[in-house]
Amino acid sequence: MDPAPKLTLNNGVLMDQAGYGTYKVPAQDAAPLVNAALSLGYRHIDTAALYGNEEGVGQAVRNFTEAGHVVREDLFVTSKVWNTDHGYDAALRAFETSMQKLGFDYLDLYLIHWPCPDRGLFVETYKALEKLYSEGRIRAIGVSNFNREHLEELLDAASVVPAVNQVELHPWLPQRDLRSFHEANGIRTVAWSPLGRGALLEDPVVREIAGSVGRSPAQVLLRWHVQAGHTVIPKASSEERMAENLDIFSFVLEPAHVAALDGMDSGRRTGSNPSEVN
Ligand code: NDP
Repeated sequence: MDPAPKLTLNNGVLMDQAGYGTYKVPAQDAAPLVNAALSLGYRHIDTAALYGNEEGVGQAVRNFTEAGHVVREDLFVTSKVWNTDHGYDAALRAFETSMQKLGFDYLDLYLIHWPCPDRGLFVETYKALEKLYSEGRIRAIGVSNFNREHLEELLDAASVVPAVNQVELHPWLPQRDLRSFHEANGIRTVAWSPLGRGALLEDPVVREIAGSVGRSPAQVLLRWHVQAGHTVIPKASSEERMAENLDIFSFVLEPAHVAALDGMDSGRRTGSNPSEVN
């Protein structure tokens, strides 16, 4: 299996283009599942305070490095500040809680999970991330679920351009305008629910392409993402699926297949519209 390429963030930090997502991974399963992911070759793990599994994620990462399989610098771990911890002081406290749970000396990427525009605190929250970044506690900072208008407001006030915006993105919701804005501003796009929470695996267009290229529907979708330059963080509960989801770098989708997947844009979301989450 070809390894995931490393993409360079706007501050020079490297991030694997494929990671393992842990939303809905129960706390007690997090350590064994993340250990399985790392053993299969994943080097990028996505968690969040909300997921309630930071202890297990941290334990698996620490065990894997302490066993000498890799050095900590080879791994990339993301966590996120939850909506109820917006505000400068609250975000600093939330970071310390996450770090205690993860058991790390530093974090690779810390994101504001949702902009919560009605709270009006995302700029202040981001200032806390900038402070932690300037102190070297975090290697890169960014945001999640920011629409273009939220990013514009943030960029007006920020000293550090977010390295990443992690958003819902898949062929039903390709986020073309937002992706162009990211490209123009040096922000990497990370796709959450890259398989549409699994619903896209049943789509007839995806299944037909999978049949014709001899790959699984999940691999076709993830390959579409990486060919477009997105980073993907699929979640899976079995080693077989984890391995399948990482084995996407040794084949290429031809232009007609990419065009067919591009043509699936329907605006359908599996999650909430960020403007409505507070
Ligand atoms: P995904 O699009 O990754 O889909 C996950 C679903 O697809 C699960 O039901 C899984 O089943 C199934 N699946 C995965 N791989 C395969 C496969 N090869 N064959 C068949 N079925 C498969 O959805 P998520 O919502 O989990 O998103 C991925 C990650 O993105 C999250 O885990 C989280 O880290 C992040 N995220 C971030 C959000 C944010 O607000 N920033 C919001 C939502 C997600 P099973 O588990 O049973 O194997």
